[in-house]
Amino acid sequence: GYRSRAAYKLKEIDEGLQLIRPGQLVVDLGAAPGAWSQYLRRKFAPKEAGTGGAAVGALNGTIIALDLLEFEPIEGVHFIQGDFREEVVLKQLEEAVGGRPVDVVVSDMAPNLSGVEITDAARVEHLIELAIDFAQNHLVKNGALVCKVFHSSGYSQLVELFKAHFRVVKAIKPKASRDRSSETFLVGIGLKNG
Ligand code: SAM
Repeated sequence: GYRSRAAYKLKEIDEGLQLIRPGQLVVDLGAAPGAWSQYLRRKFAPKEAGTGGAAVGALNGTIIALDLLEFEPIEGVHFIQGDFREEVVLKQLEEAVGGRPVDVVVSDMAPNLSGVEITDAARVEHLIELAIDFAQNHLVKNGALVCKVFHSSGYSQLVELFKAHFRVVKAIKPKASRDRSSETFLVGIGLKNG
């Protein structure tokens, strides 16, 4: 099993778009409690026939995860605790990436919501802008960025922002989040000026 049902959202997105492949470097933003990292890890684990899919040997791929909260370690996942909005934390993340090209950035980050629509829209937008900046600086040419957004105020601006940066933009509402309000995932594939 997974630490959270959130894993099934990433699974659906990945199965629809084939984003995650062994050998990649993936950055997982807002990673706690760790279900998306677990999903990524399983995709990167070499499987041996006859073990029922049990993982054997070293991971084929790199996962760098980041969250404000603590994160129970997952073997092979490099975790950084801190606020993605802070310069020092971004530096730590960039040090972990170490100049390597990043294949996919996934972000399930959600800000603390105040209930005031305009404030919340601004908080969501700020995190997305930072994630896009990071993607712009680190993604491979055909890399992908997956971000959680909310289908409420500010949504269409976020779609436009994605379209300004990526050649292909998709909005996906996984069945796994059906009951969960207005949550939608924007996926940008291929930087326009990468
Ligand atoms: N994808 C995760 C999983 O599969 O276990 C679940 C993520 S949870 C819905 C959202 C996470 O975003 C929370 O753990 C929260 O601490 C984190 N978060 C929100 N704002 C953040 C920020 N500014 N920097 C880092 N993490 C943040």
